[in-house]
Amino acid sequence: MDNLYNDIITDHSEYPEHEGEINDADFSCELTNASCGDKIKISLKFDGKKIIDIKFSGESCAISTASADLMADVFIGKTKNELHAIKSEFLKMLRGEEFSLPEDLTALQRISKMPARIKCAELAWQIIEKI
Ligand code: ZN
Repeated sequence: MDNLYNDIITDHSEYPEHEGEINDADFSCELTNASCGDKIKISLKFDGKKIIDIKFSGESCAISTASADLMADVFIGKTKNELHAIKSEFLKMLRGEEFSLPEDLTALQRISKMPARIKCAELAWQIIEKI
C-alpha cells in the first residue's frame, strides 16, 4: 500500500499543474466516480483539431487527481485520434497487460494491482469518449 503513492503521484496530486478552469473553454464536462466519491470537471481548448489547453477542477482522491494531471500533460498538442491510441495503451497498463506509454504515465502502473482504485485512475480519461 505504501508503494502506491510514489513521488510522481504525490507531486501531481499535491501540486497539479493543470488544476483550474478555462474561461473560454471549447468543451467542458463533469465526470464522477461513485465508488470513491471523485468528481472532476475537465475543460478543453482546441486550435483546429489539436488540444492547446486543458484544466480540471473538483474534488478527487490522490490517484484520480494525479491521473488527470498526468493525462493533461499528454493531451496538450494532440488530436482526438492520437488520444484514443494513448488511452487504449493506458487501459492495457491498468489491466496489467503489455503497453507503450510516455514514462510519467507509468507512475500509475501499480494501480493495476489495486482493482478498487482502477476507476479512480480511469476517471479523467473518460473525457476522450465525450469530446
Ligand atoms: Zn478516487
